[in-house]
Amino acid sequence: MQIYKGIEILGGMDPDCNIYLIDGELLVDAGTGLYFGDIKKEIEKLCDVSKIKTLVNTHCHYDHIGGDKKFKDWLKLSIAVHIADKKAVETGVGTLSELFGQTARVMTVDKTLRTDAIINTTNFSFVVISTPGHTPGSICLYDAEKKILISGDTLFETSIGRTDMYGGSQEQLVNSLKGLSALSIQYLLPGHGSPKKEGIDFLIKQMLNTLLTNKKV
Ligand SMILES: [Zn+2]
Repeated sequence: MQIYKGIEILGGMDPDCNIYLIDGELLVDAGTGLYFGDIKKEIEKLCDVSKIKTLVNTHCHYDHIGGDKKFKDWLKLSIAVHIADKKAVETGVGTLSELFGQTARVMTVDKTLRTDAIINTTNFSFVVISTPGHTPGSICLYDAEKKILISGDTLFETSIGRTDMYGGSQEQLVNSLKGLSALSIQYLLPGHGSPKKEGIDFLIKQMLNTLLTNKKV
């Protein structure tokens, strides 16, 4: 389903994350791979698959990276992950694959991402923002001109990502959300659930308030 001109939302069937296809050139997250066949068919209907060059993972959890290898085998694309989650993706340790009853597939990360890396497609220019908290290498992708934030499991339509699992940190999530609160965001494209249009600055303030009044940080 097109959610913004040039951006399709795919997948999202439990327990998969949302998969975003941007300009028919860039994929954001891969899901578990359990629904790979259906997602592949959807993508084939939408674009010339030979133009898809990169798959960016927003973080290392299995519901986002489990399908990486299948996409790589199919499209020969590059897998890009933030440096702090690279080892987890490559070894499987910290991907929480056991929670999904799966064994992580051994993967090689082709591109290591750091804060301020730029990921361009024909019509979009995303900057990588490091937002640790849910995992150490969680990232958001931000298009400043279009005011679009692809937020992975850092921020959802009405909530935030868990910080009580391997590598999680509530203190880091607070700092990450403070960083996001400085951005002008009109469209939030989260790793699970529905996208959100408008009211995102208020949502971030709300989430920060909740975290800070919990006094766990
Ligand atoms: Zn996650």
